[in-house]
Amino acid sequence: MRDKKTMQLRSAVSSLFRSALDFALPPRCGGCGTVVDETDSFCADCWQSLDFLGPGGCSRCGLPLQATDAENCAVCLARPPRLDRIRAAVAYGDISRSIAMRLKYGRKVALARTMSRYMHPLLGDLPADTMFVPVPLHRWRLWGRGFNQSVIVARELSRRTGVPVSLDSLRRVKRTPPLKGLNLRQRRRTVAGAFRANPQAELRGRTVVLVDDVLTTGSTADACARVLKRAGASRVDLISWARVVGPSRLDL
Ligand SMILES: [Zn+2]
Ligand SMILES: [Zn+2]
Repeated sequence: MRDKKTMQLRSAVSSLFRSALDFALPPRCGGCGTVVDETDSFCADCWQSLDFLGPGGCSRCGLPLQATDAENCAVCLARPPRLDRIRAAVAYGDISRSIAMRLKYGRKVALARTMSRYMHPLLGDLPADTMFVPVPLHRWRLWGRGFNQSVIVARELSRRTGVPVSLDSLRRVKRTPPLKGLNLRQRRRTVAGAFRANPQAELRGRTVVLVDDVLTTGSTADACARVLKRAGASRVDLISWARVVGPSRLDL
């Protein structure tokens, strides 16, 4: 309860600060930097080029359903993923990639606000005990880069929803190479044992929403869901800014 109050206060202070900033600087398009009318939005051209995915699709993985599917796609029916619900704001493409890269390497933290604005409506109904858990980086990578972009996005989502962010529930205990180009079995093997749930974290019976910037194969998120559920989480969702859709569909 106290946490929630502190959060609300912090959120009020940060919106005040932001309004002051917004007053001083004209809002710019998150995609190309053109001056736009509204904060955390896009110009007409970038808006057109972004492929917003929306809340629909398979109730679990969020991918488009075939005419013959009811609530779930054939893949999720055949082998339900460990993640209970996966949603992403946009399809991975030139602009969505550039936004994620500028946050990650260019530290344009204002972009996390823009990302969270379009991720927020896709969260769905969440129980009161939900917490956001950013997909952790290995500490060497964290030292190298200085920050975890998923933490910044999770904090922005928290500001919009009041759902707390937990930074110590999940740890990445193994460095993993990029999963690109590996097949499903190789990816699974690579991420196996990479994450560990903190035994001190109160995960039992709780809903966890993993937060990531880009969802590619889903293997990393799946490995996170596995340890969180083993530690007692009753439901694990994933929300990301962008996701790879199309021919290289997810194998969970
Ligand atoms: Zn633009
Ligand atoms: Zn599905």
